[in-house]
Amino acid sequence: MSIIRIHDKNFKPYITAEAIRKKVAELAEALNKDYKEKNPVFIAILNGSFIFAADLFKELTIDAEISFIKLASYKGMKSGGQVITSIGLDTEIFGRHVVIIEDIVDTGKTLNEFLPQLQHQQPASLKIVALLHKPEATIYPMKVDYSGFEIPDKFVVGYGLDYNGLGRNTPAIYQLLE
Ligand code: 5GP
Repeated sequence: MSIIRIHDKNFKPYITAEAIRKKVAELAEALNKDYKEKNPVFIAILNGSFIFAADLFKELTIDAEISFIKLASYKGMKSGGQVITSIGLDTEIFGRHVVIIEDIVDTGKTLNEFLPQLQHQQPASLKIVALLHKPEATIYPMKVDYSGFEIPDKFVVGYGLDYNGLGRNTPAIYQLLE
C-alpha cells in the first residue's frame, strides 16, 4: 500500500483491509452473542458508516433489522457546527433493542445530540457500535459499547470515510500525512 492523494492532502496507509475485516468479525461475534433472540434494530448513521454497516450486517447470524439515518456535523476536516438530520428514522423503536452503527466517534457531538432523540422514543435498550473511536478528541463524553479501533486525534479517510466528498472508496483506512 502506498500514500494516496485526495484533493490537496496526502494520506498514508493506516489500517489494512484485512485488519478491518478481522475487527468487523470480532464486533459481529460480540453482537451475535449479546443480541441472540432480541431481534435488535440497527440504525446506521450515513454517510460515513455505509460500508462498515454493510460489512458488519453481513456477519450477523441472528435475526436483526437495519435502518438508516443521515446526520452530519462535519465540514472539511473539522467536526462541529450544527448537527443536521436530513433523512429521518422510519422505524418504530419503542420497546426495541437498538444498536447505533457509527463509522467514527470523534468529539461525540453527533451522538450526544442524536441519542436523546432516540431515548425519547423509549427503546428497550440503546447501544453504540463504532469502528473507530478517538478518545482524545472527546468533548461530549460518550460510552462506545462496541468499539473497533481506538485511534489518536488525527484525520482519517477510506472505508466509507471521506475528505470533502472523496476517499470513501478504499478498502483500507488512511491517515493524514502532516
Ligand atoms: P463527532 O460528532 O463525534 O465529532 O463526529 C462524528 C462524525 O464526524 C463521524 O461520523 C464522521 O462522519 C466525522 N468524522 C470524525 N472524525 C473523522 C475523521 O477522522 N475522518 C473523517 N473522514 N470523518 C470524521
